[in-house]
Amino acid sequence: DANSAWAKDKAHVLHPYTDFASFKDEGSQVITGAKGMYVTDSDGNRLLDAIAGLWCVNIGHGRREMADAISDQVMQMQYYNPFGHSTNEPAAELGAWLASHAPGDLNHVYYTTGGSTANDAAIRLVHYYFTMKGQHRKKKIISRNDAYHGATYVAAELTGIHATKMSFDKVGEHFINHVSAANMYAKPDDVSEEAYCDYLVREFENRIEQLGPDNVAAFIAEPVMGAGGVLIAPNGYHRRMWEVCKRHDILYIADEVVTAFGRLGHWFASEDVFDYQPDILVSAKGITSGYVPLGVTLISDEIYDVISRPQCEGGVFSMGLTYFGHPLACRAALTNVEIIEREGLLGHARMMADHFQSSAQRLKSLDHIGDVRGHGLMLAIELVEDKASKKAFPITKQAGANVFKNCVDEGVIVRPVGDKIILSPPLVINEEEIGKIFSVLGRAISSI
Ligand code: PLP
Repeated sequence: DANSAWAKDKAHVLHPYTDFASFKDEGSQVITGAKGMYVTDSDGNRLLDAIAGLWCVNIGHGRREMADAISDQVMQMQYYNPFGHSTNEPAAELGAWLASHAPGDLNHVYYTTGGSTANDAAIRLVHYYFTMKGQHRKKKIISRNDAYHGATYVAAELTGIHATKMSFDKVGEHFINHVSAANMYAKPDDVSEEAYCDYLVREFENRIEQLGPDNVAAFIAEPVMGAGGVLIAPNGYHRRMWEVCKRHDILYIADEVVTAFGRLGHWFASEDVFDYQPDILVSAKGITSGYVPLGVTLISDEIYDVISRPQCEGGVFSMGLTYFGHPLACRAALTNVEIIEREGLLGHARMMADHFQSSAQRLKSLDHIGDVRGHGLMLAIELVEDKASKKAFPITKQAGANVFKNCVDEGVIVRPVGDKIILSPPLVINEEEIGKIFSVLGRAISSI
């Protein structure tokens, strides 16, 4: 039917990270409803959402309280120019909430529209900060292979999943560098965790030497790499990388777009889980549980003190977004954190995480599961052709895509990234739902 949402979408909508050519033949699935842990599609299928939309619907779908808060804000004051000296109550209140809950002295927030724009803001704030300090050469940013930092031009360049990039995309090569991902599964078996960590830290130090410490402005890292395949760093890695940064006057940017707001059982993971204190922290997604788009870039008192000095070079911080501090997004965020707090969802997430991770580990004996790894309510199952050699399946086998299809047929949505199956369920998940996810996944993987 040409009038259906499916047909209109297929004809007119360009989907992100989607092969346009194959999309022309297949089209999309139209999601028409969402409640709690479940979404419904236009064919009436009810599917258990084991990926929280896209790492974001932390409080679960379809909350009346969120709808009421957002609609009340619409009727009170839905939008006004945020530039210069005007503001709105939700933006100010959320700023204060973030300052009192974020690690250390990250007391100042720059608002954006999502994670990519928040990472762009982070890099521009880094450059602004060193310029204001007169350190004009400090421009280079070190990121990591397999990192995902977003899709706007600079955030895409920070991203180290090189398969997603084409040559026309490369705009930041002159100032963005990549070092190895911290990936315990890729580590050779005869190398200890400590030796592997030493290797990664040494590689980072060597890169700084090679680029010249006076030229390196910042290092950016996700506490746990998400889209790269839930890659877990060796014990002590982040703290040691942070110490190297401190020694060389390099700012540490924690990309907590996925790991904050309860995904690892805490408001933020960098300090509470991994024991380091970033200079800049970026978040999005779970901050509103995806009900309304919002990104935040938090900066330390030290950075704020420098960039709020009287202008030395002329010009102000030149990144202004129409939807900076959008009242609906900030109201949604305040209501979201109130729900997480009132319902004890951080503690619940920590409790469920134990059950979730141990249930996943039970699948490990299946053929073709090379690795099962995770932290909190983030998990990846890596499919391989041969377990002993960790040999990957040929691309034509479409192992990940087939597992995804098998799961959807049994009513569970997982996320295939190549042959890695990623899970990141809403924090409100219970033991029964965890049981269902892993029994479906077990069957789906056994049948490939
Ligand atoms: N950073 C990380 C770690 C992410 O996982 C993502 C999105 O998945 C982004 C940044 C980009 O966020 P957005 O898609 O909201 O622009």
